[in-house]
Amino acid sequence: MNEVIWEAKGMVSDIQRFSLHDGPGIRTIVFLKGCPLRCTWCSNPETQAPGTQLMVQEDNCVSCGRCAKVCPVGAISYQPKVTVNRLSCVSCGLCSAECGSGALTMNGKEMSTSEIVSILRKDEAYYRRSGGGITLSGGEPLYQSDFALNLLRACKDKGWNTAIETTAFCNPAVLDNVLPLLDTVLLDIKHMEDSKHYAYVKQSNSLILENAQRIARQGAKVIIRVPVVPGFNDSIREIAAIASFAAELPGVGELHLLPFHRLGENKYTYLDTEYSMKHQTPPPNQEMESLRHVVEGYGLYCQIGG
Ligand code: SF4
Ligand code: SF4
Repeated sequence: MNEVIWEAKGMVSDIQRFSLHDGPGIRTIVFLKGCPLRCTWCSNPETQAPGTQLMVQEDNCVSCGRCAKVCPVGAISYQPKVTVNRLSCVSCGLCSAECGSGALTMNGKEMSTSEIVSILRKDEAYYRRSGGGITLSGGEPLYQSDFALNLLRACKDKGWNTAIETTAFCNPAVLDNVLPLLDTVLLDIKHMEDSKHYAYVKQSNSLILENAQRIARQGAKVIIRVPVVPGFNDSIREIAAIASFAAELPGVGELHLLPFHRLGENKYTYLDTEYSMKHQTPPPNQEMESLRHVVEGYGLYCQIGG
C-alpha cells in the first residue's frame, strides 16, 4: 500500500457521526467540497463549490454591525438585517468570526488527513461492533481525488470499512486508484437519456455510464442509487431503463430509490442561490412502491431510501 501523507489537506464541508445511512452499520460521513454536477434538486448545495463559502442566516441577525466593521471589502449591510454583496465577498471569514448570533457562518474548512482521522477514530468501537465505518460523500468526493485517495488509504491503514457515495463523474484513472480501497460504492445513476440528464444535471451521462461499468468490474460491493425526482425521472419507463442498465452490471444486485425531498431548501437561501424546486412536492409513497416493483422486476433487491 502507498504511504499515507498525514499532513495532506482537503476542503471538508462537514463530518457527521453516527449515521445509519450511506453504507452498512454505524458510519461517519465525511462530506468533501466540490462537485462537477449541478443537479437541480441537490440537497447539499453548500458542497458544490470547491472553496469556503459564507452562509447568511438573516433571521439570526441582531443588527449589531460588528461584521460590517471587519469586512475588508465593504460587502456587508446590516440594516434592517444583514445582507452580503456576493460579487464583492472574498470569503475571508472575518465577518463570521465576529458574528456572535449565528447569522454568518463559513462552510468549508481545510483539514489535514490526521485531523480527520482523529475525529473518525472516536467511533472506532462503533464501527467494529456494527460492521460500520467511514463513508466519503460530497459534493463529489472524487473532485478532490488526491485527497480522497489519501484519506481512504489512511482509513484502510486503520483497518476501517470504507464506502463512497459518488456520481462517477470523474477521470477513470482516479477510479482505478480508489476502487481497491473501497468496500462499498454507492453509485448514483440519475437518467439514461443524455439530453434529459444534461438539462437537469448540467453534464452528460456518458462518462458516468462508462464509469459505472468500470466500477462494477472491480470487486467492491456496488449499490445503485437513484434520486427519484418528479418531472425528471419518476415515470415507470425512466426507472425501468435505469433498472435494466443496473441489472446488466456485473455483480450488481441492489438498487435504492431515493425520493426527492426539499430538506436542503434553506441552504439555498443561506447561499443567496435560487432553488428552482421550491414548488415541487416529494413523490407519493404509492408511486414509490410502484417504482419499487418495477425495479424488482429486473431481479434487483430494491430499497426505498438510503
Ligand atoms: S455581526 Fe451578526 S448579528 Fe451583528 S449585524 Fe452582523 S450578521 Fe447581524
Ligand atoms: S467573508 Fe469576508 S469578504 Fe465576505 S462578507 Fe464576510 S468579511 Fe466580507
